Amino acid sequence: MGQRLSCRERHESGLFAAIANGELELVEAMIEQDPSILEQTTGHGRLSALHVAASNGRIEILSMLLDRSVKVDILNRHKQTPLMLAVMHGKTGCVEKLIQAGANILMFDSLRGRTCLHYAAYYGHIGCLKAILSAAHSTPIADSWGFARFVNIRDGNGATPLHLAALQKRPECLHTLLENGALVCASTGGFGYPGSTPLHLAARGGSLDCIRVLLAWGADRLQLDSSGRIPFTVALKHKHRACAALLDPSSAAPLVWPAPLKFISELNQEAKALLEKALMEANREREKTLLKKADMPQSPLHSDSEDDDMASEASNVELCCICFDQVCTIEVKPCGHQMCAHCTLALCCHKRPDPATTCPAGPVCPFCRGSIDQLIVAEFKTSGDTEVESSPAKPRRSRKSNFSEGSSSFKGLSAMGPFGIGGRSSGKFAAEKE
Ligand SMILES: [Zn+2]
Ligand SMILES: [Zn+2]
Repeated sequence: MGQRLSCRERHESGLFAAIANGELELVEAMIEQDPSILEQTTGHGRLSALHVAASNGRIEILSMLLDRSVKVDILNRHKQTPLMLAVMHGKTGCVEKLIQAGANILMFDSLRGRTCLHYAAYYGHIGCLKAILSAAHSTPIADSWGFARFVNIRDGNGATPLHLAALQKRPECLHTLLENGALVCASTGGFGYPGSTPLHLAARGGSLDCIRVLLAWGADRLQLDSSGRIPFTVALKHKHRACAALLDPSSAAPLVWPAPLKFISELNQEAKALLEKALMEANREREKTLLKKADMPQSPLHSDSEDDDMASEASNVELCCICFDQVCTIEVKPCGHQMCAHCTLALCCHKRPDPATTCPAGPVCPFCRGSIDQLIVAEFKTSGDTEVESSPAKPRRSRKSNFSEGSSSFKGLSAMGPFGIGGRSSGKFAAEKE
């Protein structure tokens, strides 16, 4: 390296240091003195001033540079935009500012052909991920490319953002991507050749949380990768035994979020959160058995004290008439019948529309067999006297006694005697026999 920096070079390195440190006035003074300094880039990476501001989260300097009409999508050596670097470093404020300034979310770097959405999923910055998705909804991308295509965009290796989130153990990003239309069984292979699915990569990464989310969204445990392996084999190869236990195709299949049902896709946030929680709880109960069989420590995520809290809370509210175990939290519209989130979910998961028929018949209300137009969160009633006339008699005793038998939240799903759901797969509701 040259021992002596020229005056000019010293000035430039000073500029980038000042930007990185967020010294707005100093940076402004340097630009006043020599506006051409903005055309300079750092040494090997060829980062521009805007790149340095974005990756360091210096939003004021970033705004000032944009006001001076610096090109928002200026590229560095690897064709990375300032937006990509802001996303990589999780600088959500800068990401939003750059998008406002018109940054293109559909640029590909030259390293692996990745977009800013790939970066967000890979580095696990959920705030950045959401900012990009919301931009994708409102910018011309949605019109020209289509939102779904953007969410499932592939990098140079065929990996979608969902693949990268699975590999890097980012369950929150996985969930957000899936909610936004990411294809759970997307394959990295092209032209009809098999490749890895997100489930294969989650098995390699060894994240139980990611595997849970993917399975709950319908990931296929039997899909083969290019080496002819199922995710189970991949988990075993990488010595993730707990993951392998969940991925073992011979073990009971988990409940899958009934996304195709119309009223499920139209749930409000509150009702959705209740049902999703019930789904994850039901699947965790199933996991307990699997992990016990595999002689693995049980999931720390499930705490029994949580159930106890619910039990005391439940002592003076109405119990679900299907399981006599959980509190009624979901109300069916228009009939007004109520049941617990677990039973609602069981109903929806066991009676999904048949893709083979053109007119899918969804589940009906188990009490009156009326159609289900909407599910809402039931309002808590503290007194049993204010019952809806049409609702069947409800038991009004404390559920405390139920807990002595080692009751669990999953019981709601397995103990559905009144509706003929005996075992795990018999899956026949009275309502189904019409
Ligand atoms: Zn119930
Ligand atoms: Zn009803």
